[in-house]
Formats: sequence, C-alpha cells, structure tokens
Amino acid sequence: MAFSKTQFETFVDSLGLNFFNADELLVGRYRPDNGPPPVTIWHNIVPTILILDHLREHTGCGIKLISVYRTEAYNDPEKNKGRAPLSQHQAFTAIDFRVTGMKPDKVVPILKGWENSEWFWSPLDFQRKAVKVSKGNIPFGEMPRKVSAGVLGCWFTFRGFVKPYMKQNFTHLDTRGMLSGEDDDGE
Ligand SMILES: [Zn+2]
Repeated sequence: MAFSKTQFETFVDSLGLNFFNADELLVGRYRPDNGPPPVTIWHNIVPTILILDHLREHTGCGIKLISVYRTEAYNDPEKNKGRAPLSQHQAFTAIDFRVTGMKPDKVVPILKGWENSEWFWSPLDFQRKAVKVSKGNIPFGEMPRKVSAGVLGCWFTFRGFVKPYMKQNFTHLDTRGMLSGEDDDGE
C-alpha cells in the first residue's frame, strides 16, 4: 500500500506530542534504499516517541532525531558496518537521537532510571506488531500497561534497550519490551 503522508500526520497528531512532528519521525526516509514505515507497524513507535517527548520536557534540551525507521535493504549490515541484522529500527521501535548540550553517557542513566518505574501516558491505545526480516524475528515484546474501563488511551512503563554512542554523539533507544541488557543485538 502506498504511503500516505496525510494519514501518517493524523496518526502522529493522535499522540499529542509536545515536541516532535511527523517529518521528524520520517527522518532518513529518502536516504538511498530507505523508505517510510509501513502503516501496519506505525503503532510500534508509540512508546518510544512518547518517552523521548518526556525526555525533552525533563531535560529542557533540544532533541534531534537522526535515524528512526530503516528498511531491510537500508539496514543491511554488509553495506553498513555496525548495523545489527535484527535491528529494532526495522520494527519501527527504535530511535537514534542527539540531545543538545548533553552527552550520551548523561542521557542513558536518565532513560534507564525510568525503565520499569516511570509510567507514561499514551492517548492512543496502541497495538504493536512483531516484525520478521530475512535474518529472523526481531526481538519483540509489549510494554506493561494499565488501562481503565471507559477511558481511551493507556499508561505504560518502559522496557527496552538504551545504548550510548560517544564518538558519534548519539543515543539509541528502543522499546523491544525486554529488560535492558538481556540482548545486545539489534541496535
Ligand atoms: Zn539505533
């Protein structure tokens, strides 16, 4: 199905983000071999971008998204050294980002401190989907959630993976739904 920018914007609007828009989430879309995320997995990014919205508020520092969705062709570890064959970017659960004036080793402890403790509100009761690539299934699980009868949206807590890249000055965050450090693949 052809990608609809308008439909993607409506989806992003439904998340009530304070600091990010549809264009930022589509960063890298036009890089060679890359493209927009398929509509079937748009919901996969919901917890990740809501956590980053919270981080932006918490730090008061600008956040620049560097890499979000990657097609299998664009992610190819043989063409791009350092990319994982089962990268969470292919499941649209991962974001690489840079925080203005804050090094990755200062960003990581904030996010890890929220894991399994901080509850985040999502106005969208997201339905995520596992993704399979030719190398296998991308590690995937759900976020623990709380829903209330008659209320749209849900509370979730964060389970995923965070990694600092000091040399390139960016941080990787994904919401694979597993405890941090359980799996070193898939950055
Ligand atoms: Zn990454």
